[in-house]
Order: sequence, then structure tokens, then C-alpha cells
Amino acid sequence: MCMYNRKNLEPAVIEETKVWECTSDTCNCWVRDNFKSGDQPTCPICKSEMKQAVKELQVIHNPRVID
Ligand SMILES: [Zn+2]
Repeated sequence: MCMYNRKNLEPAVIEETKVWECTSDTCNCWVRDNFKSGDQPTCPICKSEMKQAVKELQVIHNPRVID
């Protein structure tokens, strides 16, 4: 059992991350490339086509899972 200590958060790291953006003018939805549902994802909100883009995002470090 491993408790995640919030006092020891590492400084934020910003990295260019591949994402998919909704092509609809009225929708600002986007998803990370590794969360997409298929090779050509559709927007989970409005079902429009999505196009590949790059965003500068904070890198998320998942705590390592220890068996
Ligand atoms: Zn959309």
C-alpha cells in the first residue's frame, strides 16, 4: 500500500503533446492522442471530425503502481 504525498509534488513540466482538436467552430473540445478512441477520433461532445494538433501541456507523472 502506497500513499501519495501531495507535499512532494514535482515542479510542473510543460511539454508539447500531440492532441486531437474538434473541427467545429462552436466546440472547444480536444483530447490527448493517447486517449483517443480510434485512428480517426470523433469529438466526444458534438461528434464532429477531429484534427491532429500540438498543445503545450503540463506533463502528468502517474505514481508508479507497486504490486
Ligand atoms: Zn466537438
